[in-house]
Amino acid sequence: MKDWKIVQRFEAVPDLPVLAEVDVLVIGGGAAGVAAAETASRMGKRTWLIEKYGFCGGAAVAGLSGTICGMFMASDNPDAQPEQVVFGFTERFRQALADKGGVTGPQRYGKTYTVTHDPLMWREVADDFLEQAGVTTLFHTAVTGVIMNGDAFKGVVIESNAGQSVILARMIVDASGDAALIARAGMDYYFGDNGRIQNPTMFFRIAGVDMEKYLAYYGEDTICPPKVTENIVAANQTDDYDLPRHKIWMFPTTRPGELMVNATRLAGQDGRMLNVIDPKDFTEAEVFGRRQVRSYAKFLNHYVPGCENAYVVDTGVEVGIRQTRSIVGVETLSNDDVVNCRKREDSICRTPWPIELHSGDKPKLHWLLNDYYDVPFNTLVPVVGENIIVAGRCLSAEHEALASARVTAQCFEYGHAAGIAVVKAIDEGIRIRELPVDEIRNVMIANGSKL
Ligand SMILES: Cc1cc2nc3c(=O)[nH]c(=O)nc-3n(C[C@H](O)[C@H](O)[C@H](O)COP(=O)(O)OP(=O)(O)OC[C@H]3O[C@@H](n4cnc5c(N)ncnc54)[C@H](O)[C@@H]3O)c2cc1C
Repeated sequence: MKDWKIVQRFEAVPDLPVLAEVDVLVIGGGAAGVAAAETASRMGKRTWLIEKYGFCGGAAVAGLSGTICGMFMASDNPDAQPEQVVFGFTERFRQALADKGGVTGPQRYGKTYTVTHDPLMWREVADDFLEQAGVTTLFHTAVTGVIMNGDAFKGVVIESNAGQSVILARMIVDASGDAALIARAGMDYYFGDNGRIQNPTMFFRIAGVDMEKYLAYYGEDTICPPKVTENIVAANQTDDYDLPRHKIWMFPTTRPGELMVNATRLAGQDGRMLNVIDPKDFTEAEVFGRRQVRSYAKFLNHYVPGCENAYVVDTGVEVGIRQTRSIVGVETLSNDDVVNCRKREDSICRTPWPIELHSGDKPKLHWLLNDYYDVPFNTLVPVVGENIIVAGRCLSAEHEALASARVTAQCFEYGHAAGIAVVKAIDEGIRIRELPVDEIRNVMIANGSKL
């Protein structure tokens, strides 16, 4: 991007106040960052978390992605009951949401299941988790630069409207989703499939739904039945609608008469792919997203029984971004690993979620039936860079592989693993890339993970 300079590295501590010197610094309070910070702090390390919004949740909350996918196996058997294979931090968080009435039970999603959470409760559970673990959280603060000694990360430069400051850290977790630190250090990363990334989506919620009537028509599967797709195609023939995505997903939430809607598909005005890392395209996505939400809401009012009087309650704080940068890791999760359900001894997470690729007029789903693949630890470790690990959707993965490995349950577990790894690296005085993965796995298993 010729108009932007991403690399912002300082080879010595810049002439700015030092706000804190910590053991573990986590950048980003999405699923991965919350898990990493909570885990490291519970293991006794002085841990800070920096988040640019005023709440945690990232794509799950600000992007309103709204469900915890990736916990259950898929099956061709329509009578198959939900079979959960991911536990650990994910299950602790899900249970804490459930204790507040903030998450549904398993809901049918094609050949598998998911659960839908309340985004407000998600934030509150994250607040409680971080506070109870003793994490110091700074909201409304962004990382703008990295402080390096050669390839070793030593700290970051942060910025808020209070000004600029420095945090020095022994270990850093880049849980920014965008590999913000790796990129600012000038290290290598992939960007989608040779620059092509998945479509962004503006989520929205509607209330005022007559659920009985709605379910009688739409059915229990949150993926729309063919008759809805046919109606979308028909409505699109008229000039009244702009409905570029023909297969939509709707999730009954924990609130009465409310649906969370995953329907929009955002491209530029001229039809081009939006590169949402660029604020110009990001802005276009937000404006078009809001307009498209109105068009889908009107469609629901006119074509989906039970939704006649439904109204939009809210949209995401930001358009949902599925993919930007992925690091170049010591290992890269390959498309073959995913489709062949490859098992690994150095696994830090099972993933049963399909490849869910959002491009074209319909999202494409490649199911993994009655099986899962393992995600190896070293997909979180960049090929170059010391004292740094990533967690979350910026792990090292090929394009289609990422379209499976990026969902929330997995991001929780990547954060869980990264939090343990940085603590072990400090305690044992060794580089993250030299850690025996068994030791990380043993702590995860003790914390309830099934590996
Ligand atoms: C449209 C869409 C639909 C999806 N649907 C589902 C779904 O139904 N179920 C599911 O499980 N998953 C879904 N996902 C995927 C899932 O929501 C995300 O992949 C996952 O939440 C990513 O978590 P993360 O922690 O890696 O990153 P993020 O959630 O992106 O968190 C990164 C955090 O870092 C912060 N940050 C970034 N840069 C900086 C900086 N420089 N300084 C400070 N803070 C910074 C951000 O504000 C953000 O809070 C969907 C995603 C999208 C976009």
